[in-house]
Amino acid sequence: MFQYRGDLYLPDGDLWIDPHEPKRFAFISHAHGDHIERHEQSITSYATARILEHRLGPQNLIRLEWGEEHELAPGVVVRLHPAGHILGSAQLEVVQRGRRLVYSGDFRLKPSVTAEPAPVVPCDILVMECTYGRPHYRFPPREEVIPRLVEEIRGLLEEGRTPVMLAYTLGRSQELLKLLESYEFDIALAPPIHSMVRVYESLGVTFGKYRQARPGQTDGAVVFVPPHASKSRIVKRAKDPVTIAATGWAVDGEKGVPYPTDRSFPLSDHADFDELKEYVERSGAREVYTVHGFDEFHKHLRDSGVRAHPAEVRVAVR
Ligand SMILES: [Zn+2]
Repeated sequence: MFQYRGDLYLPDGDLWIDPHEPKRFAFISHAHGDHIERHEQSITSYATARILEHRLGPQNLIRLEWGEEHELAPGVVVRLHPAGHILGSAQLEVVQRGRRLVYSGDFRLKPSVTAEPAPVVPCDILVMECTYGRPHYRFPPREEVIPRLVEEIRGLLEEGRTPVMLAYTLGRSQELLKLLESYEFDIALAPPIHSMVRVYESLGVTFGKYRQARPGQTDGAVVFVPPHASKSRIVKRAKDPVTIAATGWAVDGEKGVPYPTDRSFPLSDHADFDELKEYVERSGAREVYTVHGFDEFHKHLRDSGVRAHPAEVRVAVR
């Protein structure tokens, strides 16, 4: 049903799946930078279409509602289901000759406060991400992590310092902003984050109070900047800034985070090890192919009796 030609490909529908270079026809699972390209035509969810066009300008898109059927070719039907990773993120279900393939894209099963809840989609073949596919990546419940983060922020503010949340422009920032809503901090957002929050609002997500951050005007505020902007003027001119990362890699402490940070908290928009295994079990998949993650994850699945391989092995196999 699918091949791996440097990227995932459905030959019978002539559809590329999250390809990393421009193609004639592609499925875009969500609008994170490593997944978007200017293809001749793409299939996306409505929310992803909105975010994608905010980032790239007008595109030739087939927008699908959740669960809406779309025929790629005679006998090849696709549907989208929420993936729970960021707003609009989608799983792709393909039905062909009575067999069902699901591509999870980046996903998270536990509830998000800004992304649509993700179902487990029953299937025969599952192609899944496994970003956190090592057993020690088990994330503590958010009900424990958020109060610790809030306590940290309050402590820094009381010391007259500036907490600087390092959060990706799309997804992480909006989720954190929403998670901190009830604590009524003065929240100042770097301009790209601010404009993406506006896009989320246009898609129906509501937020508490926030403002756009301006250099030198952040005393007493919690500042949000993208990780690559930790040396920007907003941060340099903040009073005694302390950077804080909220990411799954924080399970390994500050050293595990792929960018410099002073503090770190384990909050992720990806499935952890247990959720990855849970998806495999509940989907009933007889074959599993892994992408984007630790190579060893497929071995953990094999140990529990699942036929699992890295997707790369599926070169030109029908
Ligand atoms: Zn992503």
